[in-house]
Amino acid sequence: MDFAPSPLCTALQARLQRFMDDLVLPSMADWHRWADAGVYPLDVLQPLKDSARALGLWNLFLPSLRADQPGTRLDHLDYAPLAEVMGRVPWSAEAFNCSAPDSGNIELLQLFATPAQRERWLDPLLRGEIRSCFAMSEPDVASSDPTQLRTRIERSGDGWRINGRKWFITGAAHPLCRVALVIGDSGGGNAAGAGDAHRRHSIVMVPMNAPGLTVERNIPVLDHHALEGHCELVLRDVQVPADHLLGDAGAGFAMAQARLGPGRVHHAMRSIGQCELALELMCERALERRAFGGRVGDFANVQDWIAHSRLEIDQARLLVLRAAWKLDREGAAAARIDASAIKLVAAQLQSRVVDRAIQVFGAMGLSPDTPLARMWTWGRALRLLDGPDEVHLRGIARHELASARARGAANAMHLRRWLPAVGE
Ligand SMILES: Cc1cc2nc3c(=O)[nH]c(=O)nc-3n(C[C@H](O)[C@H](O)[C@H](O)COP(=O)(O)OP(=O)(O)OC[C@H]3O[C@@H](n4cnc5c(N)ncnc54)[C@H](O)[C@@H]3O)c2cc1C
Repeated sequence: MDFAPSPLCTALQARLQRFMDDLVLPSMADWHRWADAGVYPLDVLQPLKDSARALGLWNLFLPSLRADQPGTRLDHLDYAPLAEVMGRVPWSAEAFNCSAPDSGNIELLQLFATPAQRERWLDPLLRGEIRSCFAMSEPDVASSDPTQLRTRIERSGDGWRINGRKWFITGAAHPLCRVALVIGDSGGGNAAGAGDAHRRHSIVMVPMNAPGLTVERNIPVLDHHALEGHCELVLRDVQVPADHLLGDAGAGFAMAQARLGPGRVHHAMRSIGQCELALELMCERALERRAFGGRVGDFANVQDWIAHSRLEIDQARLLVLRAAWKLDREGAAAARIDASAIKLVAAQLQSRVVDRAIQVFGAMGLSPDTPLARMWTWGRALRLLDGPDEVHLRGIARHELASARARGAANAMHLRRWLPAVGE
């Protein structure tokens, strides 16, 4: 395995860093002024998007770009260090058309959309003209087990009728959000059959202005209202034409799985960028703040926090790069457990490192005068969204146990040599 950045990655990293220094950081004050007034800062973002696209810093996350689609085709290993740079200013990913949930939705459409669906939704998404959301979770069922989803997608005349309630749908309040990818139970009347709980669900493309679709509220996350929204949606007898079905009826879960691997690399690397920023802030504060006749950074416990943070960030980055490398070489199915592992490790790491930084800052760490409080809120959410920690741990453990089962009793002989067998 060779994780040294390629010459292309190194060059893009330098260009991206310059873009962040010259254009994104000077826009921060404006962005926050609009955001604090509750207005999505489209006017701040649009010139950044125009510049990023002109400079070839566009759709960097998408390896499967075709020649006629705008963007710079990179594999996941080349993209990962760029996502880390973007992660330091979380809203900046949108300037490069690399933000969730659109990146995952674009990937899904790239794989499964018909030519008409590409023209209507994928192409404007790739140009950054519209945005989208992915609507799976529901208030009435434990959504970490999506086989329980209650939203109904039924045949009705020539099309599909949708009824259900979704919540925490990221991006649904973005002023450019035009389409929701809604996953729901389409029953057993499809080719897949009713018996298999993993083959009953379908994905339909629902325009945000479809009659019957309402955004009921933007749910605050730990008391913070995200401007793009984590929204509750109600779908009441929403009617869409037959050609709004994505892929095959009953293939919803299989398609949704395809979306997850790359998205987890993106999230994880952006989180690592935030951890690096938190560590830098922690060190600067520890050097500058004085208490009990010395610097805060002189206390052994603070040095332990700094050292552990450094080691844990470097370990996590290597794990993410290995997952990206495997994704590039062997595909999403082979990298499924690796993607679960980095999702879990990066989310827990982000909470831990940011929490230490907050402690070093004292009360100021909880205020809006540093980015730490907002980062911590996001880190906490990361431990639930895209699957709670426990679900990923369970998947990883089952994979290990399956490997052990496949090995049979390969190690039993060793144990007998070391331990007396029962009854001896
Ligand atoms: C900020 C944010 C943004 C989100 N964005 C989106 C979005 O854009 N689209 C979308 O569809 N959803 C989104 N979600 C929802 C998210 O995907 C769900 O919250 C998540 O899948 C968990 O579902 P749940 O909340 O129903 O928890 P539940 O399924 O009710 O689980 C509750 C708890 O039960 C335990 N548990 C569950 N399963 C297991 C298991 N197998 N083993 C051990 N313990 C288990 C865990 O501790 C878990 O935390 C978002 C959530 C947040 C917080």
